[in-house]
Amino acid sequence: MTKSAIEEFVVQFWGVRGSVPSPGFGTIRYGGNTSCIEIRAAGKRIIFDAGTGLRNLGKELEGQSNLELHMCFTHYHWDHIQGLPFFEPLFRAGNRLHVYGQVPEEVRPMSLKEHFYQRVLHANSPIPVAQLEADLVFHELTCGESFNIGDAAISTAPLNHPNGAMGYRVSWQNKAIVYCTDTEHFPDHLDENILNLAQDADILVYDAMYTDAEYHDPKSPKVGWGHSTWEEGVKITKAANVRKLAVFHHEPNHSDDMLDKIAADLAEKCDHSFLAKEKAIASVFD
Ligand SMILES: [Zn+2]
Ligand SMILES: [Zn+2]
Repeated sequence: MTKSAIEEFVVQFWGVRGSVPSPGFGTIRYGGNTSCIEIRAAGKRIIFDAGTGLRNLGKELEGQSNLELHMCFTHYHWDHIQGLPFFEPLFRAGNRLHVYGQVPEEVRPMSLKEHFYQRVLHANSPIPVAQLEADLVFHELTCGESFNIGDAAISTAPLNHPNGAMGYRVSWQNKAIVYCTDTEHFPDHLDENILNLAQDADILVYDAMYTDAEYHDPKSPKVGWGHSTWEEGVKITKAANVRKLAVFHHEPNHSDDMLDKIAADLAEKCDHSFLAKEKAIASVFD
């Protein structure tokens, strides 16, 4: 059944790739844009990360006025901010963008606003910050804190990633979607922070950049690079009683054919789970 905008609770994937955009013939089906998802809940648009996928969301919103958008950052590595200067709604008067995130430890006591303008935008884009016409409202977060966006309840938890990252859970009407990227699993135990954040969630979007074989490849191990595997995502999904795992932050060298193979392997181990694809929508009600 189709739900109206006010009733829907979905995640839409605008960029599913990790680390660096990977356009080309080999990535057409899953998409080559970097991390950006949109969760629509309680009639609100809540964007997570501003990778290059954000540009396409901006195009979708083009021409709409008086938009009220919420944008939450996990962290500020390139692949999570690169779409920001190309997000059309930022340049329209009457729009309002709420920005949520923590200030990286190494730049404190800078405020989130200073960090956002100086380090995220100005340092990476030729467009003068003064030309942003939208009204920006900053909400500085500390990892672990909870807050509300309308009737949606948001909680946060620290992830295991170089320079830090923050995971988010969006809960509404006894349903929940959890966004956990970028994060590396531990060799000897499941991450308690993620288990708590994801407990009984309907959808867990998880950093599954590598396969276990790649992660442990003796010729080129990825241990300590801050990312996880789809096999570890399955373990978290089962231990936290999550209904659906969404494998996300695909390795830029993983072609569509290779991702199809991972999807087939995933289907054997974890019911209802899927690989995130650009523009795809997953609902908590499905
Ligand atoms: Zn990333
Ligand atoms: Zn990162």
